[in-house]
Amino acid sequence: QWIFMNGGFVKKEDAKISVYDHGFLYGDGVFEGIRAYDGNVFRLKEHLVRLLDSAKSILLQIPYTLDELSDIVVQTLQKNELQDGYIRLVVSRGQGDLGLDPFKCKDPQVIVIAEKLALFPEALYEKGLNIVTVASRRNRSDVLSPKVKSLNYLNNILVKIEASLAGVPEALMLNDQGYVAEGSADNIFIVRNNKIMTPPGYVGALEGITRNAIMELAIDKGYDMTEQVFTRHDVYTADEVFLTGTAAEVIAVVDVDGRTIGEGVPGPVTQELLQDFRQLVIRDGVK
Ligand code: PLP
Repeated sequence: QWIFMNGGFVKKEDAKISVYDHGFLYGDGVFEGIRAYDGNVFRLKEHLVRLLDSAKSILLQIPYTLDELSDIVVQTLQKNELQDGYIRLVVSRGQGDLGLDPFKCKDPQVIVIAEKLALFPEALYEKGLNIVTVASRRNRSDVLSPKVKSLNYLNNILVKIEASLAGVPEALMLNDQGYVAEGSADNIFIVRNNKIMTPPGYVGALEGITRNAIMELAIDKGYDMTEQVFTRHDVYTADEVFLTGTAAEVIAVVDVDGRTIGEGVPGPVTQELLQDFRQLVIRDGVK
């Protein structure tokens, strides 16, 4: 396996960074998770725009243009002979001293890792997930915007820990007002009476690339698709619930906090959008 770093490719065993890298010391950096299907990179430009926006927001200068980053991602897939895979693009602030000061870090690291990925076993896509809501909150008044996909994922990791302790594969975060925000690394959609809703970004959700693609597909299909603030009650009483994300793709949720969702199986709207999404990812990629 080949990793892109320091402007070229190195073997996985040799891909090492300094212990003084502020990405390691402080989670100071940004990242993207991107996916390739059949040799096509899905919505690469959107991912790179989000990466550049995240970097700009934290005053991190990425030493490549969007087009250069795009070439690096495609080359990393080719070098690893991957047609289908998951790509992790990481930009860390780079090496500094033990102080927080990011301006002492003169050489940001750009690292691209590509490999095969299956987040959930295939059987769960057919059965749907049981999930819980957790106490960890997405804080809307954090200094850092939830739009920044930063390397500091402790909040999300705590959500994942709470999920594991509850014996389920994923969990939902609420925000500080108790509105439903998102999963540990995925967005949530609910369906009621054929109306589809997902929380707006300002609730504290990342504006997921998969989320945006699903919203477009739903609108194309003529669904009443809106961004809405909603609570756990709305999730419990929905006809269908599903999660979206680059790694998760589209996956049904059939139980939340012990409340069976709809019939307890993936519903028709979820299945339709999953099919549409699977066609879109092949059609809509960058070779
Ligand atoms: N929310 C969070 C916190 C995430 O980390 C991710 C994954 O990237 C998502 C949502 C889903 O976003 P996307 O569809 O762009 O992968």
